[in-house]
Amino acid sequence: MNRLTEHLIVISFDCLSSLDFPIIEHLPNFRKLLKTASYCKNVETIYPSVTYPCHATIVTGNLPNRHGIINNTLLQPGRHSPDWYWHRSHIQGTTLYDEAKRAGMKTAALLWPVTAKANIDYHMPEIFANRPWLNQITVSLLNGSFFYQLDMNRRFGHIRKGLSQPELDDFVLESAVHTIHAKRPNLMLIHFTDLDTQRHLHGFSSSEAHAALIRHDKRLGRIIDALTTTGVYENTTLIALGDHSALDESKAIKINGLLKEHGLLHINERGKVDAWKAYCKSCDGSAYIYLQDDNDLLTKDAILSLLQELLDHKENGIENIMTGKEAAKRGADPHAAFMLEARQGFYFHESWEGNFIDEITETDVIEKRYTHAAHGYSPEKEDYTTVFIASGKGIRKKQIIPTMHLADEGPTLAKLLGIHLGETDGKVIDIIFKR
Ligand SMILES: [Zn+2]
Repeated sequence: MNRLTEHLIVISFDCLSSLDFPIIEHLPNFRKLLKTASYCKNVETIYPSVTYPCHATIVTGNLPNRHGIINNTLLQPGRHSPDWYWHRSHIQGTTLYDEAKRAGMKTAALLWPVTAKANIDYHMPEIFANRPWLNQITVSLLNGSFFYQLDMNRRFGHIRKGLSQPELDDFVLESAVHTIHAKRPNLMLIHFTDLDTQRHLHGFSSSEAHAALIRHDKRLGRIIDALTTTGVYENTTLIALGDHSALDESKAIKINGLLKEHGLLHINERGKVDAWKAYCKSCDGSAYIYLQDDNDLLTKDAILSLLQELLDHKENGIENIMTGKEAAKRGADPHAAFMLEARQGFYFHESWEGNFIDEITETDVIEKRYTHAAHGYSPEKEDYTTVFIASGKGIRKKQIIPTMHLADEGPTLAKLLGIHLGETDGKVIDIIFKR
């Protein structure tokens, strides 16, 4: 296949929504990008619409049931802070960065989800120190490019304040700018989470979220400047995209409390899960219910009647109940017994303590028990689409794609690099390419 560009820079602005488009199109750097861009304002996301499955879809072109990243975090019943799908090894099949590397290209990734221990040349993975005895810098170093990350930390580590935003994105930005200058990667994946963080903490349309959009515009400008001063801008394709949107919520649903009440989840005197027949695994706006034993039809039937009773009363916050099979048809985990969709204004929480529904207060959010906005909802929810913008080498100007799917991004980006992801759920968006 013909390669259409020398350098492909993919910037993921986590939680960038179609509803942000009227704002960003008036910000100076997005405006500059859009002048020469083809774009889609209505990108349908995947189900469940959470960050890790979304980013795995972007680099594989496949839905979660095929690439294997079916949630952000692993099923670890009762663990207060479950581990995330950090590692590349969780992804089934090939990825954009693997194929680029195989074709002899120089690759870089900064905080791109599900890349830990991937074969990427300049690599700072997104991974947290999730045990008290682990140190953040050591965990990052051991799961990405050791010396490259040491160098980035030596140069820009002073900017960072742990995982807090906007400092983390500012650190990622400085590392990206330096990497463009010093390494000139052919494929670079960058993941910024400032906007997503502000929305979780302050709400979808908060002034804090708006300020994050303005910071993102400045970050985009710095990257464009870096490409220009390095002399590679003319040979670069720049992609700006989002992974999902978010919806405000004010009530948390605690299915595990109900499972506990019915003897399907057992909590010991130290407050830990010591046995379970069924467990609700939250994806925020949606939730899976898993059975310890898939053949336990008695438990499955009992849960279904409990859920149906909940569904009958709007105040319980359940909009839809799917079987695992139905969830799988929509791209979600086929191994779940059930999948639930929350009504607007609600989201799922894994706790089993207290009331079945909690009204969320400001204190809850400040103390990090709950959030003000969540993702993970069904792509069918209204005003829930995201954005894809492509500009630069190989891209036609002002081609407007009416609608597309997040899974179309992988094969489309692969075509730009002249590589192939195999048969994918998504399809190439040909309209954007120069002939
Ligand atoms: Zn996200």
